[in-house]
Amino acid sequence: MHAPTTVPFRFDPSATPVDASERAARLVDPGFGRVFTDHMALIRWDDAQGWHDAQITARKPLTLDPAAAVLHYAQEIFEGMKAYSLEDGGIGLFRPEMNARRFNDSARRMAMPELPEALFLESIERLVQADRDWIPTMEGGSLYLRPFMIASEVFLGVKPSSEYLYMVIASSVGAYFKGGAPAVSIWVSQGYTRAAPGGTGAAKCGGNYAASLLAQKEAIAQGCDQVVFLDAAERKWVEELGGMNVFFVFDDGSLATPPLSGTILPGITRDSVLTLARDAGLTVREEPYSLDQWRADAQSGRLVEAFACGTAAVVTPIGSVAEPAGRFTIGSGGPGQLTTKLREQLVAIQRGHAADPHQWLRRLD
Ligand SMILES: *Cc1c(COP(=O)(O)O)cnc(C)c1O
Repeated sequence: MHAPTTVPFRFDPSATPVDASERAARLVDPGFGRVFTDHMALIRWDDAQGWHDAQITARKPLTLDPAAAVLHYAQEIFEGMKAYSLEDGGIGLFRPEMNARRFNDSARRMAMPELPEALFLESIERLVQADRDWIPTMEGGSLYLRPFMIASEVFLGVKPSSEYLYMVIASSVGAYFKGGAPAVSIWVSQGYTRAAPGGTGAAKCGGNYAASLLAQKEAIAQGCDQVVFLDAAERKWVEELGGMNVFFVFDDGSLATPPLSGTILPGITRDSVLTLARDAGLTVREEPYSLDQWRADAQSGRLVEAFACGTAAVVTPIGSVAEPAGRFTIGSGGPGQLTTKLREQLVAIQRGHAADPHQWLRRLD
């Protein structure tokens, strides 16, 4: 547990927790983002007091004034991370300090107050402890944690809010893909971009997701699983999927991924994959890669694999890419060798099954 911060937490246990047999039933096949735990974390902020009123309390609907700023101007940020049940009965968090830091990077971009990293970590650890029975123990299962902050001032004027709610909710989740990750098909967004230079692409804010939904809908209509976005300025460079970063694997064993130029979300999975690949002695480039090059390299065989990565789905092979002009296949069209190896390595560290040279796994007592 973290050193106590200056904001003391009150623990107000749920009076009506889900009973053990009902919980077990819900954990059999939880899917993603549908099964929620008994508690939530909540901390308030206002201009006068700063952060105050920290609590772990029963999960329940919010009472929000219809004029709350977040409902009109979308001043909102979030994070996504997982707690794992380890074989020795302990609980692990994967690089949670990176989420704490990124949360504050997002807060600054959205003109919101920063939350001390220790307080962020304490809220996570306390909620996981309170709801530890909700961590699935089946293969691939985990407790998905969703910290977020909303502007709660009751005011329709356009300005940064003078009040905020920070909260963490937790959701028991199964393996994102059952039986290993199948290769997904990707649609190249034509008319829509996700983020522009100077915009909010590097911040984890709900608005980015709202703006990506129509392109994702277009991808589904085209018979694809996911959408990939090109840069807004030249419509030439591959950026990322709606919620996952993208990697390319070449026939010389090297890897490339688009650089963090401000329009891409700096994924913690992305950073971890880069580190694992460098540890393995592979050549890794963070450099712009164009759609034209991607197509040409896939057709010539120079590109042998591609994958997307993020906390929810870990590492997901990309099997084919579709555009109005046609479709190109990557490698065999199925999961590639290096993609599979990197996925297994990362999962093994997250589950406490492998050596952890960078001390990524944080154990809760
Ligand atoms: C969260 C997110 C990612 C992945 O980040 P991780 O830290 O690896 O989970 C990638 N792209 C976008 C747009 C995201 O919101």
